[in-house]
Amino acid sequence: MIMTWRLNQWWRERILEREEIPQHIWQKVIQLRCLSGMSADELRRLQALVLLFLHAKVINGAHDLKITDEMRVAIALQACVLILNLDLDYYDDWIEIIVYPGEFILDYDYADEAGVVHHVRNIASGEAWLSGPVILSWQEMVNTHATPVHNVVIHEFAHKLDMLHEGANGCPPLHANMSVQTWHDVFSQAYAVFCNQVEEGVDTVVDTYAAESPAEFFAVLSEVFFESPVALKQHFAAVYEQLALFYRQDPEKRITRD
Ligand SMILES: [Zn+2]
Repeated sequence: MIMTWRLNQWWRERILEREEIPQHIWQKVIQLRCLSGMSADELRRLQALVLLFLHAKVINGAHDLKITDEMRVAIALQACVLILNLDLDYYDDWIEIIVYPGEFILDYDYADEAGVVHHVRNIASGEAWLSGPVILSWQEMVNTHATPVHNVVIHEFAHKLDMLHEGANGCPPLHANMSVQTWHDVFSQAYAVFCNQVEEGVDTVVDTYAAESPAEFFAVLSEVFFESPVALKQHFAAVYEQLALFYRQDPEKRITRD
């Protein structure tokens, strides 16, 4: 175990020695809102993660979309925000990211637990497959001014983290200092409150899509956690606290500390 870890470390250091992100690209992408208030140390660690991520993953454009270096770095950067204080191993069991120019059509069959096959045909702006690729819409990625706040990259990669523990059910693998019971209670309660608000047509800081399922609730709230942490803490304080424990980050504090 220690041997593999050392080998892993050794590989990572070699990659970091050899590869770099052009300064003009890095300076541009770190303006993203989800990085607000990050310290020089956090940005330095994030940059290392981005290089390792890009080394390990393949990013392909669909429908002749040309993937530029800036696009690659922007995607990797937002994916790595989630694992800044976790580890790259959280994204271990898959390789490819597919980027469509705009929305895309999902058309597939799947069998449910009872063995019944369902046909799905949906228009989507992002999708994450269990042990498979992450699919993103570039148009959705650059559309950063929509309200309520959203971030399709954070959304899909939050699904990836969720899937590491018993499939996509809204509960990622929790750390030793966390309680599954507390997570479950806090999220179930917040989810019920939120679904009620949506039903009553209340304006919320959270996209109504979060009411689809506990898995979507976790993914959408992860977006708000990084994109609009002050609002999330204000409206869903207990959920904020659980997400801060899981991601081992406190983005609200980053923004408000100075
Ligand atoms: Zn989703």
